[in-house]
Amino acid sequence: MTIRRAVLCFSAMVLAILPAHSSGQEPGYPLELVAPGKGTYTFPPGYETPWEKIQIMVTAKMSPNLFVVHGSEGLDPAHPDASGGRVMALFGPDGVLMVDTENRQVAEKTLQTIRSFTSAPIKLVVNTHIHGDHTGANAFFAKQGAVIFAQENLRIEMLRPPPRANGQPAPSPDMAGVPVATYNYNAAAPGQPAVTFNMNGETVDFIPMMPSHTAGDTIVRFRKANVIYIEDFYRNFGYPFADQGNGGSIKGMLDAIDLIEKLADAKTTLIPGHGTMVKKQELLPYRAMLVDIMAKVKALRDQGKSLKDVLAANLTAPYDKTTLGDTQQSKDRFITEAYDEVKEFPPIVDGKRSMPAHP
Ligand SMILES: [Zn+2]
Repeated sequence: MTIRRAVLCFSAMVLAILPAHSSGQEPGYPLELVAPGKGTYTFPPGYETPWEKIQIMVTAKMSPNLFVVHGSEGLDPAHPDASGGRVMALFGPDGVLMVDTENRQVAEKTLQTIRSFTSAPIKLVVNTHIHGDHTGANAFFAKQGAVIFAQENLRIEMLRPPPRANGQPAPSPDMAGVPVATYNYNAAAPGQPAVTFNMNGETVDFIPMMPSHTAGDTIVRFRKANVIYIEDFYRNFGYPFADQGNGGSIKGMLDAIDLIEKLADAKTTLIPGHGTMVKKQELLPYRAMLVDIMAKVKALRDQGKSLKDVLAANLTAPYDKTTLGDTQQSKDRFITEAYDEVKEFPPIVDGKRSMPAHP
């Protein structure tokens, strides 16, 4: 009885000293201003992205000084629901911290959009993974004064990119955009931040991830706003994409989802690089789909079926109704990933895998 009363007293005291925002996001947030498009989109053969037509907009506000910036819909065939990869900007008297930098072609527009709400210097960039829609304007923002942070593997991927799908060597990187401040994933402590910034009234954690979407992934947690930028190991527009050449794997994406289960609470807003913002419960059907497809592909491959046979089996059919952006290309990429992963999956060397070529 005594013990019970003591506990009650203690919890009353804790409630009294907690500031209002610690139970989750600030009242009125998140505020979504522009939702990504839902499709369907088609582009004629030979279509090229008209970068001059793409607008970069503030699409959501996660707190009074934490905004989401994203491109317009219907123009970029790589991401027709909203061009490019989401950028986040935390701003205030301590300067601007950006998560990712968007495509190179819209660098100036991305800066102008940030300038529409702050004149503070751009001080810090963290890259969530190497893809051009997330790192393309790195050099541009480094020239604005930003120090770029990322996993060491991302730096290696950028310095020594895997060959292109046609076997040609990839172009050499713009050194100005290569991250200078690096850290590693520690398999003994998943979820532990590698870097924490206290600035503009927010506490920001850069959390290196296990090889999942790539071998150089980082998620970014904003503790006060109760937001985690979860980049591209989860997506709800198009089928899952593990960039195996850059060290990603479907198995790693499952591990990434399981880590989010531990890091997020029911109210945490999860911000993927593309598609709609979600809560952690919404990762579960996606996780189940990954497990189901891997098992079905493995069974077929164990029977000696070729990639062509497995693609023809149309294993994603049960998910097409609930998967926006379910193009043939997106399905085939996902099934090919699963096919390559269930047998003789090459190991990661220097952040990369030598993936088999498929005719
Ligand atoms: Zn992306």
